[in-house]
Amino acid sequence: MSVHSTRAMAERAVDLCVALLYEEPSAESVARVLRAHGERAVAEGEPAEDAGDSRAEVMPVEGVRAEGVRAEGVRAEVARAEVVRADDVAAMREAAGRLVEVLAAPGTDAAAGLLNRILAETARPPRLTSHGGASPWHVHVDAHDDVPWAEWFLASSAMALAVLLADHQRVPGGLCASAGCRRPYLDLGGGSPRRFCGTRCATRERVAAHRARA
Ligand SMILES: [Zn+2]
Repeated sequence: MSVHSTRAMAERAVDLCVALLYEEPSAESVARVLRAHGERAVAEGEPAEDAGDSRAEVMPVEGVRAEGVRAEGVRAEVARAEVVRADDVAAMREAAGRLVEVLAAPGTDAAAGLLNRILAETARPPRLTSHGGASPWHVHVDAHDDVPWAEWFLASSAMALAVLLADHQRVPGGLCASAGCRRPYLDLGGGSPRRFCGTRCATRERVAAHRARA
């Protein structure tokens, strides 16, 4: 599955929401999730060589603001837009809250209304970019290639969730029904709606229900 497929973008959105809202978020933890989803991201102060194998090939592209990141004897050019900072994390947490609200919406109409509001605020005319040849061509709806992480996160995630809502004609996810969890999940199956984020919560709740009956 391409990292630019709609489903991959929605999965990235959910993983980022969990890292930002349900764990102790830091520039490092957020950069790690971004890299796991194929984004070039490096936490402020993090050695750039840890930023994934494609990093070494990244050359500053004309028009992209670039700055040096100094690590132990290693100097790598990192585009400013690729560095995740503490203030990015704070802004991304706000964005994550709005995306979780969409997944928690009581129905398709409510989710569509919330997504339309986010898109009206953050999305611009769709455009194709290859980031100067550094990636395959893919569609962006943020204002330009160098917007802050939070703007990119909110606009691209809302777009992906909107496409999935239209594809499946229902809220494309939900919040885990386990009271101690409440983590967001994607739900793109055709059958009855999912209730839990994963097998661990589903099993725990089934065991608890069984004990309550016994
Ligand atoms: Zn759960």
